[in-house]
Amino acid sequence: MIRKPITGDEALSSVIDLLVKEAVLVEPLADGGVRCVACGHECRIKPGARGICQVRFNNSGKLYAPWGYVSALNCDPIEKKPFNHVLPGTDVLTFGMLGCDMHCAYCQNWNISQVLRDSEAGGEPQQVTPQQIVALAGQYGARTRSVASSYNEPLITTEWAVDVFRQAKAAGLMCMYVSNGNATREALEYIRPFTDAYKIDLKTMRDVNYRALGAVLDRVLDSARTAHALGFWLEIVTLVVPGFNDSNDELRDAAQFIKSLSPDVPWHVTAFHQDYRMREPANTSARMLIRAAEIGYAEGLRYVYAGNLPGRAAAYENTRCPGCGTTLVERHGFRVRSNRITSTGRCPDCQTAIAGIWM
Ligand code: SF4
Repeated sequence: MIRKPITGDEALSSVIDLLVKEAVLVEPLADGGVRCVACGHECRIKPGARGICQVRFNNSGKLYAPWGYVSALNCDPIEKKPFNHVLPGTDVLTFGMLGCDMHCAYCQNWNISQVLRDSEAGGEPQQVTPQQIVALAGQYGARTRSVASSYNEPLITTEWAVDVFRQAKAAGLMCMYVSNGNATREALEYIRPFTDAYKIDLKTMRDVNYRALGAVLDRVLDSARTAHALGFWLEIVTLVVPGFNDSNDELRDAAQFIKSLSPDVPWHVTAFHQDYRMREPANTSARMLIRAAEIGYAEGLRYVYAGNLPGRAAAYENTRCPGCGTTLVERHGFRVRSNRITSTGRCPDCQTAIAGIWM
C-alpha cells in the first residue's frame, strides 16, 4: 500500500517507506488503528494513513518507523550541538534522517526536515547500518567521543537512534539527542538507558507562537521537566528571533522556567538569521543576545551562553565559575581555546563543582 504524503515528493516517500522497521513506541487502538507515542503529537493513525511527521505510517494495523538510513552524517564539534558542558573540545559523530513533527518557518535544516511537505527541499536517504556508523566514529579517532541524533527531529525516528546508540554504547561512546523537546514520557524513558545528554529547543514561552510552529508550549515544558527528572544531562537553547520571542518579559519567563528545573541547566541564547520562509525580521544583533544573556544571569541561572555570533557577544561564549567568576572554558564559536576545569569537574581556583560531564 502506498501512503500518499500531504504534499511534497511522492517518489521520495515511496523510497523511504521501504527503509522502515516496526515501531516500538506505539499503542494499539480499535479497528486496526494505532496511537504513536514517539512525540508529543501522539497521532492516532488509521490503517493506510501517516502521522503528522509523514515518516511514520500504519500499514495493516502495524506502525512503521524509519530505519536504516541517514540524510546527513558529519563529525562536528560538540559545541555546535550545542553542548557546552559535555566533553568540551571533542567531536560528535552526528546523523540525521528525514522529516519533522514541526514546521518552523526559520528552520535551518529545512532541506531535510521539510522534505515530505515541501517539494523544493532536496534531502535524500543514504542506506547505512548502526554498525557502519559506529565504525566510522572509530575511524575519526580519539577526539570523537560521542554520537548524536540531530539535524532533523530525532524523536520521530527514535527506534533507529536507539539501535545506533546500543552499538555506540558498546563501543564506549556517549550518546545524545538534539531535539525540539516535543516529547512523550514513553519516548524519554525508552531512550534513557542509551542516551546521556539531551538538548531541547525552547522556541518561545508563548503558546500561540508555539502552535504556529506546530507544537504546544506545555508539552515542551513538561518534556523538559521529565528529561531533567530522568537524569539526562540537559541543555536548553532559545533562538532569539527579533519581534517573535525577544521581549524582556518573555526572555525572563524562559530563564525562570529553566531555573525552576535547576540553575545548573545551561541556557544558550543564539542568534537568528534569515532562512527558509522567514526572510524578515532582521538578523539578531549582538546587543540583543547580550541583553538576553544578562537576563538569564539576572534570573539566577549559573551558565548562560550567547551563540552564533563568534567573538561578538562579549564573554558570553565562555564558561565562568559561578563561585569565584574566573573563566574556566574559553571559546570562540565552536572552538575551545582553553579548558581549566579539573578532572573532577571543579574550578581549579575555588574548588566549586561545575555541573556537567567533563571526562
Ligand atoms: S512521531 Fe509524532 S508526528 Fe510522527 S506519527 Fe508519531 S506522534 Fe505523530
